[in-house]
Amino acid sequence: MTITTESAAESAAAAAGLTSAAVVATTPEATGPYELERDIESPNRNLSPITSALDAKGRLQVGGCDLADLAQRYGTPLYVLDEATLRATCRAYRQALEAHYPGPSLAIYASKANSSLAISALVASEGLGLDAVSSGELLTALEGGMPAERIVLHGNNKSREELTLAIGAGVTVVLDNWHDLELLAELAPAAPVSLMLRLTPGIECHTHEYIQTGHLDSKFGFDPDQLEAVLRELTRHPWAQLTGLHAHIGSQIFELQPHRDLAGVLADALALARSLGHPVRDLNVGGGLGIRYVTSDDPPSIQEWVRGVAEAVHQACQQRGLELPRLLCEPGRSLVASAGLTLYRIGSRKEVPGIRTYLSVDGGMSDNPRPITYQSQYTAVLVERPRAAASERVTLAGKHCESGDILLKDLALPPAQSGDVLAVFATGAYNASMASNYNRIPKPAAVLVHEGAADLVQRREQPEDLLRYDLLPERLRKLWATSSQGGHQALICL
Ligand code: PLP
Repeated sequence: MTITTESAAESAAAAAGLTSAAVVATTPEATGPYELERDIESPNRNLSPITSALDAKGRLQVGGCDLADLAQRYGTPLYVLDEATLRATCRAYRQALEAHYPGPSLAIYASKANSSLAISALVASEGLGLDAVSSGELLTALEGGMPAERIVLHGNNKSREELTLAIGAGVTVVLDNWHDLELLAELAPAAPVSLMLRLTPGIECHTHEYIQTGHLDSKFGFDPDQLEAVLRELTRHPWAQLTGLHAHIGSQIFELQPHRDLAGVLADALALARSLGHPVRDLNVGGGLGIRYVTSDDPPSIQEWVRGVAEAVHQACQQRGLELPRLLCEPGRSLVASAGLTLYRIGSRKEVPGIRTYLSVDGGMSDNPRPITYQSQYTAVLVERPRAAASERVTLAGKHCESGDILLKDLALPPAQSGDVLAVFATGAYNASMASNYNRIPKPAAVLVHEGAADLVQRREQPEDLLRYDLLPERLRKLWATSSQGGHQALICL
């Protein structure tokens, strides 16, 4: 593990191929949550991207770009993604697999965490594969240059259209249930289809209930007692080429033992599949490694996690006398979360004497639904004085018509006023990809920052864009035309 401090920013930046930033001296009483130390080998262990730095005035930069300038240029809310952090994370997974697993391996990016052409292209260029769960994610991956042979299609209710697209492109299909098999058989593929079989391993993780997927009461995958039946059924379909076995046990996991246990479950399934004549090559342990959202989070490093998984799979296969499979893992959150942050501009302030102070920003639950959905916690700083000592505690509220639209509770901030720009860290995963248009609020733009340059990778939606798919039936249009003569009053009365 390499911990770097801001005083070592130049060497860290150079190692990541970045321009360096001036380092500002900080006074001991400056205690903002912006952390000066960073683990550049395992970015999931940091609150902010590995290129974060303070300029001579103490303003926050990422990827060599001044965040206040980005907010000014591209508007807010703005998703910012740091290319160096994303690349460093991809390399950490690849190198750890090569270092700790004696057989072949492939890390597959779970693109549900954040799907875009730019991320697909970056991840593909780092040699990783990609997991998609819909036609939209699949098309984004293919258009972004991800080779089809490195893509897997997941989903517990795939449509005929999604399966047709996947088969046509030569993507591996994850067989999640009997319905998948029936649909595939109906499509009667002429050429062999590469399949990966997903099973529910019955391993429960200590994580938020809504994001557990590996226990027995799960909508995903075949129950263990169905395994032999489906493996036997597959031998009757000449087009079915079972190339892999898969399980995913949850997300934001800080323990190593659940994945070690999973290795044994998957190795048993591998032994059974091979004994029934399936030449299974891949063992996919899913994703799940946690990240640091707040200072009290202390997730394992990518290297520790991969090592734990690799050793367990190696050992489980040895114990069963199995030839080593190719080891696959599917990180989502730990691959992109720490590379991202969101910029907001502060607007209104409301003081409720003796209770709390609300600061409202120009985004909220539509660009980050995690706090209202999972009560997730985040860390935020003012980009122009991230290390300034806090003077008050505020509740950071979104702008949506929902009392629960709160991004951060009890945020310690230096004096902040309307117009100040705030960065919420670690929003690279499950923010843009889970964004909605609630209250008909357009989705933010996204920029990729690298070596002092920013590229727009997602245009900002405009209110007019939200009307693109609305249709006004002719008979309502007529009513509208009539009533509008009488003004809005009449329209409301309709
Ligand atoms: N693989 C599968 C099948 C998943 O369902 C998920 C997330 O839910 C992932 C991988 C990625 O998990 P994480 O983002 O926790 O790494």
